[in-house]
Order: sequence, then structure tokens, then C-alpha cells
Amino acid sequence: MVDVLKVKKQDLDRLHQHAEKFLPKEAVALLFGSVHERIVTIDRIEFVENILDSSTSFAVEPMTQYRLLMDADKRGQELVCIFHSHPGKPRPSGRDRENMNLNPVIWLIASKKNETWESHAFLLEGGHIKQVEVKRV
Ligand SMILES: [Zn+2]
Repeated sequence: MVDVLKVKKQDLDRLHQHAEKFLPKEAVALLFGSVHERIVTIDRIEFVENILDSSTSFAVEPMTQYRLLMDADKRGQELVCIFHSHPGKPRPSGRDRENMNLNPVIWLIASKKNETWESHAFLLEGGHIKQVEVKRV
């Protein structure tokens, strides 16, 4: 399936700024791009609202998500990664795991540790959560 998630350093910085802005709530973004030889490349980031306005869970407004998916399709891109932030640990929660099952893309989770944001990528594969390498390019 997928081994590596390639993200531009400036994109990762933008995602972390987005996460910082939403503290103590979870922030969300949809990442579009392509998958090639087990490597996912991000081409475009869409920052979206967490309609649950929560510090423990998130949801994207369905029409917004639909519109972004249609738009990506026209550009020949696909949804390759869902980003969200955790005020707590950067591990998928029970709810995340259920949603990973419904949206089997890479899940990039940011959390703040010692004043610094860091992101870890996960994929649900064969019922198990596998960590995917995040390569800053
Ligand atoms: Zn989560």
C-alpha cells in the first residue's frame, strides 16, 4: 500500500500553524495529491472547519468535503491524507480508528510537545494501525 508520506516543509509548517490557531480545539485539513510506488505526495492542502468544535473529535461538513473531492477529481488529484491535531497524544483515538476504517487514507496527526508541533502519519491496514514515515522535502 503506502510506506512514505512526502510533505513539503513549508506545508507542514502551515498545518502546524493551523493547529496552533485552533487550540485547544482540534484543527482539520484535507490533503490532496497522488500515490506512486508506495509514496504519497501532497500537492494541495485545504484547511477546513471542525464542525464539532471539539478538543477530542472532529468532523468536516459533508457538502464542503463533497465539493473539495469533486474539485480534486477535476484536477486529477485524490484525497490522500486527512490531517487533524490532537491537544493530547499524537495517537489515533478510538473514534479516529473507526473513521480510518471509513476513510482508508493516511491520517496525519499533529500534537504539541514542549512547545513544538510534530506530526505522525498512520494507516489502517488489515485491521491494524501502521505508522507511515513522514518525509519532509
Ligand atoms: Zn484524533
